[in-house]
Amino acid sequence: MTAVAIDGPAGAGKSSVARAAAKRLGYIYVDTGALYRAVGLKFLKSGADTTLNCDIQSVLDNTVVEIKFINGEQRVMLDGNDVSDEIRTPEASKMASAVSAKPQVRAFLLEMQRKAAADNNVIMDGRDIATVVLPDAEVKIYLTASAEVRAERRYKELIEKGADVSLDEVLSDIINRDNADMNREIAPLKKADDAVLADTSDCSFDESVELIVGIIKERVE
Ligand code: C5P
Repeated sequence: MTAVAIDGPAGAGKSSVARAAAKRLGYIYVDTGALYRAVGLKFLKSGADTTLNCDIQSVLDNTVVEIKFINGEQRVMLDGNDVSDEIRTPEASKMASAVSAKPQVRAFLLEMQRKAAADNNVIMDGRDIATVVLPDAEVKIYLTASAEVRAERRYKELIEKGADVSLDEVLSDIINRDNADMNREIAPLKKADDAVLADTSDCSFDESVELIVGIIKERVE
């Protein structure tokens, strides 16, 4: 099995670029952020806020997160319900970032991610895929873009989905999440030493996909 690990900050276009690259190459695309979002949603539903002043392990002990692939598309199940759309709200984003700093949560999701890569040719994206989840991945890419470019892309995506947000809100959410993800003690977001840096600030979507497919083909074929 071949594994491609793509890490990078929020809104770098990882999921859309990785999904398109996976389609081109016939790989399964695994979005690990969705798993953290599902756990975040569970804590939201349990009445917790981002301070997570609660018994984290006992919430996790009563939580079932699963990944399903329907026509090659990933769906995320929380306690038996498909929450793939519900996890995309700004509240779920903030909560995902908060829960992801907790070691119990990272441990809870680790095996599921490794299993997905053991069973399939995957392009897996997240924050710690090359550094922690799949340190032996054949291809490692750190995909990034400036915070302003990332905010604009995310803003457009949210508006298209009918969300009621402002560009400023999205930018400050991105900057806050970058800070939290890069400075947490456990599995912080950083470029693995052996990852290729791909900065897509000046790339269109198609150019970003070309760039990533090119990097993968160069290393795998
Ligand atoms: O990628 P996405 O923005 O959907 O991820 C939501 C949050 O989940 C991130 O802000 C990050 O805190 C967390 N995450 C993580 N490790 C991963 C993937 C996501 O900590 N591998």
